[in-house]
Amino acid sequence: MAASDLAALDKPQQADLDRCVHCGLCLNACPTYRELHVEMDSPRGRIYQMVQVSGGAPISPSYLEHIELCLACRGCETACPSGVQYGRLVEAARAEIETKIRRPWRERIVRWLVFRKLLPSRLNLEIAGALLYFYQASGLKALVSMLGFLPARLREVETLAPEIETPFFFAYYGKTLPAEAERRYRVAFLGGCIANVSFARLNEATVRVLRKNGCEVSIPAAQACCGALHVHAGIRDEARKLARRNIDALINGGFDAIITNAGGCGSTLKEYWELLEYDPEYAEKARQFSTSVKDINEFLASIELNPNLRSLPITVTYQDSCHLAHGQKIRSAPRKLLTSVPGLQLREMQLSDLCCGSAGIYNVVHTGMAMSLLKKKMASVNATGAPVIAASNPGCMLQLRAGVSRFGRGQRVAHVVEILDEAYRGDEASAATKPVK
Ligand code: SF4
Ligand code: SF4
Repeated sequence: MAASDLAALDKPQQADLDRCVHCGLCLNACPTYRELHVEMDSPRGRIYQMVQVSGGAPISPSYLEHIELCLACRGCETACPSGVQYGRLVEAARAEIETKIRRPWRERIVRWLVFRKLLPSRLNLEIAGALLYFYQASGLKALVSMLGFLPARLREVETLAPEIETPFFFAYYGKTLPAEAERRYRVAFLGGCIANVSFARLNEATVRVLRKNGCEVSIPAAQACCGALHVHAGIRDEARKLARRNIDALINGGFDAIITNAGGCGSTLKEYWELLEYDPEYAEKARQFSTSVKDINEFLASIELNPNLRSLPITVTYQDSCHLAHGQKIRSAPRKLLTSVPGLQLREMQLSDLCCGSAGIYNVVHTGMAMSLLKKKMASVNATGAPVIAASNPGCMLQLRAGVSRFGRGQRVAHVVEILDEAYRGDEASAATKPVK
């Protein structure tokens, strides 16, 4: 299909819009509506605006503002009794905006650099990671902060930037690591994009836990960024290129599962079939690929878990990742894994599936809204008294760490798989589970 024909389909489809009966039952599940109490910043209001645009109304600055302020968290999808696929709608609305609106030149340059040059390229990620590591580890960051060189806005964004972890996980690309003891499964692991340089230790822990559970783990060298951030930003042409690269890299590997440890990535990987549904060459391959993708929680909870877990006498509260809970409908698996650790007590927070404000790069672009949501999230966390916050998505972990430093009580933020890894290793002083103070 020609690019122009695809662009015509990259907009909210009438059949999807028609499913909304405007009942408003989703309003209370929407973080932006709960904050602002503005109908146009509710799911129903946003769908109403999409209907107007679909009927020929112009894409106005106001439309842009309300669609962009949406977190694409899909909380409304869970709440909707009519089965409105809001995630699909908002992604399509953003794709339409992308093809029809010319953004200011500064924004265009930043988006081109981030989405088309940085995220798809291993080399550029390694260069950016090395530069950022030098900035953070050499004392330059501390000096800049002491001298107050950065403008206020950049200072705020800097507090949300990930810590770079060397050596990068890219070092594992192209390797196959054997199962510990008897091999029960052959799986492929996707390292992500930024996670390769900022969550390298989490990725290693994921591989260790898989191997402990009888998995031979391949980390294909030709894999690429999954394209989730592109899909959320409406940049579907680049997302499609990345999807094809991943399909080509993995489809013929004969794997029992393709594993990701990021809820946000998993959701997009499982929806490659939608992204490529009009691509005659890839549509069927994308369907096959999507059915093989498993979130790490989902996969581990579905197999007979290696029971050699040592006791971790800690209290943990779990923050649902929006794209795991609302996008993939996976809620019980991470809880099942956490409670399988002897000695671990799971203490639920209020509204654990309400977005923490991370939402990909949302916290960088809409920092004010993201921080309001984070403040409330941390109040729920603090009320549990748990010294550890478990999550299942690196982006949420970064946001929650920022939340701990601004509004928290020294809690430690860890991925579910890191907690399992520590229980398998039986570390005396466990890094992820030891409170900061
Ligand atoms: S999205 Fe669903 S819950 Fe929300 S107004 Fe429409 S039909 Fe009702
Ligand atoms: S995706 Fe999230 S922020 Fe957007 S309308 Fe739905 S509930 Fe609200």
